Amino acid sequence: MRKKRWQMERRISLLMAVLALDGLLLGTTAGIIRYGGTYGTASPAHRIMPVSAASQTTEDKVVALTFDDGPHETYTLELLNGLKKRDVKVTFFLMGQNISGNEELVLRMQKDGHLIGNHSYRHIQLTKAGEDNVCDAVEQTEKIIENITGCRPKYLRPPYGDWNENLECRLDLTTVFWSVDSLDWKLQNTKQIVNQVEKKVGNGDIILMHDIFPESITAALEIVDHLKAKGYQFVTVEELLID
Ligand SMILES: [Zn+2]
Repeated sequence: MRKKRWQMERRISLLMAVLALDGLLLGTTAGIIRYGGTYGTASPAHRIMPVSAASQTTEDKVVALTFDDGPHETYTLELLNGLKKRDVKVTFFLMGQNISGNEELVLRMQKDGHLIGNHSYRHIQLTKAGEDNVCDAVEQTEKIIENITGCRPKYLRPPYGDWNENLECRLDLTTVFWSVDSLDWKLQNTKQIVNQVEKKVGNGDIILMHDIFPESITAALEIVDHLKAKGYQFVTVEELLID
């Protein structure tokens, strides 16, 4: 148990270190790409991590697919059906404001064995929102999810991967970034998304996708089929970090 905890802490620090390196290499704004997405009123942006972090610490052929910004009434359902057919478990980082009306989908995620994490309430840059506002936004989403599933999420993915140590001290959640960005939010083309992931992916990677675009769903299921054929197993972020 102690060994597992140590490994988990080591992997989390490694991911944090890569994020810090990313910030150093790219600067605070250059590492952010903006897009005029179809989702929300703010223009979402995502930090790109330059190297695969988790792949350096595991020998197993495992990867974790993660989906941010949902749930989406149509696309998330389509994804859940496709994953169930393939018996694959993934991690969803839910955005509080998208949950109302989609409670059944959240229950289905839980029932199907997926891991549910927190992606804050709205798509804001947490380091710019003020610590109290951030804590309120994250807590609000914790409660919404807990009211549906009976479980408080333990993992947080900050929108844009935007995070700092002060926030870490205030919130009792494990922050999870990613090591492969599918760029689905920018490409919105199934073939290109599949290529982008498959040219970067390695053992132990955490893949960033969004279940709010139809192309992301078809790409994700194709990626599952291709990587399964290559001998990869799909696990939740928790299984990846702890095992
Ligand atoms: Zn997001």
